Amino acid sequence: IEPKPGNLNGTIHALFPLLQADAFRFGHEIEADIGDIPPTCYDDKEIRQLILNLVRNAMEAMDSRGSVTIRTYADNQAITLAVQDTGPGIPENILPKIGTPFLTTKEGGTGLGLSVCYRIAESHGARIEVETSSRGTTFFVRFKVVE
Ligand code: ADP
Ligand code: MG
Repeated sequence: IEPKPGNLNGTIHALFPLLQADAFRFGHEIEADIGDIPPTCYDDKEIRQLILNLVRNAMEAMDSRGSVTIRTYADNQAITLAVQDTGPGIPENILPKIGTPFLTTKEGGTGLGLSVCYRIAESHGARIEVETSSRGTTFFVRFKVVE
């Protein structure tokens, strides 16, 4: 990977038209709620891939007229990138194994998208957290704040 200093918001901004086209194809809404975050060091191509995988999963999880929100915010602990959906939640039986390669509930799914996300996060020293319920799922990617 080739980490370079930059602001995650720029990466989201550049990727957004593609995500909007995806959302339109599914009949979903997509929104970006961009916060005031400090620059960090990351590989733009890899983080695009991570965001794309999380957003695609969100869109595939919602059956009709769902809504995806991408958020960035920062506090003393972390710079957070969150992808939230209004889908049915991650099935309980696979939740403990989430991120394991080849784990899929989709017909024709590869089960690789999330394992790639975890691998990319790890190579950036970032952590992925998940909150899921029958009303939706949020993936939080927490990047370290560097002084
Ligand atoms: P794939 O998309 O090919 O199935 P992933 O690794 O991207 O593989 O996702 C693995 C599984 O995790 C999915 O099949 C799905 O069951 C579950 N999953 C991932 N993201 C979500 C989400 N946002 N909402 C509900 N389930 C999800
Ligand atoms: Mg996927």
